[in-house]
Amino acid sequence: MQNSQHDVVIVGAGPVGLATARMLGQRGHGVIVVERWPEPYPLPRAVHFDDEIGRVFQSMELAREVAAITEPVPDFYEWRNAAGEALLRIDWSGTGPNGWPTANFFSQPQLEQVLARALDSMPNVGLVRGVDVVDIEEHQDRVVVHAGDTRVGKPGQILAPTRATRSLTARYVIGCDGANSLVRSRMPVEMQDQGFFFDWLIVDTIPTDDAAWSPMNWQLCDPVRPTTIVSGGPGRRRWEFMRLPGEDATGLATSETAWKLLAAWGRTPDNTHLERHAMYTFAARWADKWNAGRLAIAGDAAHQMPPFAGQGMCSGLRDAANLSWKLDRVLRGVSEPRLLDTYTSERSLHLQHAITMSVELGKVICVLDPQQAAQRDARMIAGDADPAKVLPVTARPVLGNGIVAADRVLGGTLAPQFAVEVDHSPQPLDTATGSGAVLLLHSGRPAGQLLNPSLWQSLATVDGTAKSVAAGGDPDLHDVTGAWARWFDANAVAAVLIRPDHYIYGAAPDIEDVYELVAEYAAVLGLDSAAVPATGVT
Ligand SMILES: Cc1cc2nc3c(=O)[nH]c(=O)nc-3n(C[C@H](O)[C@H](O)[C@H](O)COP(=O)(O)OP(=O)(O)OC[C@H]3O[C@@H](n4cnc5c(N)ncnc54)[C@H](O)[C@@H]3O)c2cc1C
Repeated sequence: MQNSQHDVVIVGAGPVGLATARMLGQRGHGVIVVERWPEPYPLPRAVHFDDEIGRVFQSMELAREVAAITEPVPDFYEWRNAAGEALLRIDWSGTGPNGWPTANFFSQPQLEQVLARALDSMPNVGLVRGVDVVDIEEHQDRVVVHAGDTRVGKPGQILAPTRATRSLTARYVIGCDGANSLVRSRMPVEMQDQGFFFDWLIVDTIPTDDAAWSPMNWQLCDPVRPTTIVSGGPGRRRWEFMRLPGEDATGLATSETAWKLLAAWGRTPDNTHLERHAMYTFAARWADKWNAGRLAIAGDAAHQMPPFAGQGMCSGLRDAANLSWKLDRVLRGVSEPRLLDTYTSERSLHLQHAITMSVELGKVICVLDPQQAAQRDARMIAGDADPAKVLPVTARPVLGNGIVAADRVLGGTLAPQFAVEVDHSPQPLDTATGSGAVLLLHSGRPAGQLLNPSLWQSLATVDGTAKSVAAGGDPDLHDVTGAWARWFDANAVAAVLIRPDHYIYGAAPDIEDVYELVAEYAAVLGLDSAAVPATGVT
């Protein structure tokens, strides 16, 4: 039997496994990803990511590659009733606070190709396909993953491997192995289920005419056949059709049915290429624990949600960003393994916001009773289709307890990435600040003059740096649009400590208070507070 040793084994080469491998690989760790399917998975799934996730791709140094396969949204996401009246209109135009288009459409197989190619160039990261993990043995100092060679049955069907042919030893194993996660089954985990299940037929097409689509993305909330009509990335269109009671799921998942349903939209083989189709049962569930000992789960292995908010993969990529900077510290021995417990506590609360939002949107569209649909229409039209009036959840999500100063302003929220200039050259904030934590000071003086040397040393112990940003004076970063000044003023703070995943640990009302902020951050990371000076500002 073959045996190999790694810092981290990642089970599953979906978007979350590939992204986690990239993020750990960027930090220098030896990672191997093992994937059951011999070839990349071709079926339709995610099509949307938001501006935060664009920024995550940017942190993976894949901004250009991802933008090249992406279609930003120029308008709004509209939900209409059978009469064509707007029930809900979500503005998806323009650039979001993360410096990326607010909403972006793409094809998941293409994105996975970009992510897999990025791993090819990393000598410390491997990706092996056609390897099916069958068992996991956890020891005090390591984990052993047993795997067999995948056996493919009928097209699209995987048979259980006859025996384990190899074992992989690692310090940690991350299960990015999807909804039926084997890694999760080896952890003391209970699933929380909202009992929200509906079957939908997903049909991905490539139009061969020059049809125009306006709005680009919308939902037809018609109880006769709830339907989603969205971009599938550049040059692609997607339709999603809800299965009606009494309709046979197998009968519905055929290309004949797909063409029949498309015909009602004027799409025929004369103007459309049918790329792929598949039936999915949407669910809303999450694991109550995402890490235990040397095992962790991320992405669909940890949570699943209906796709109406386009947040399933996005949530998984947030998991990857949260887990990778913490696991990096644990692997380097600069933080205790208990730091990983904050991965569950922080992400779980944030994720529940995405699930609630997705279910609420699902409740708008998955309505088959004409009377209920009429009541829904009346309520939403009376609310002017305004999300703030017609949806119950509108507040921005916040991380749960963890590396978050809950008693400080902005703790646990996502820092924006407004434009800055360095030496007259425009740069995204994260490029200008680097990949670690950053203490961002609202000042026209350079951070090098503001902070004393021992605070700089403390920042180095938390993998951090400091930068000042202001519209005038001589700051490290020039606030060219005034957006940073408005943001600092609106929040009545003078400094924020931003973590490597761009979430804010906490803020300080005055620059004189930053030493306490850094000391607290070091302490929650498990570092000796004696390493932090009693004053930090010169
Ligand atoms: C119709 C539809 C539309 C969607 N739309 C959106 C959207 O617009 N935006 C969005 O953000 N999300 C969307 N999603 C959700 C998104 O597709 C998923 O959240 C995402 O694919 C999860 O990625 P993952 O890497 O966690 O898991 P997966 O993509 O499921 O990957 C898991 C991988 O693990 C492998 N694996 C499993 N077990 C083993 C094993 N024992 N050994 C080796 N390998 C194993 C599997 O083969 C698979 O490749 C949509 C989903 C659907 C179904």
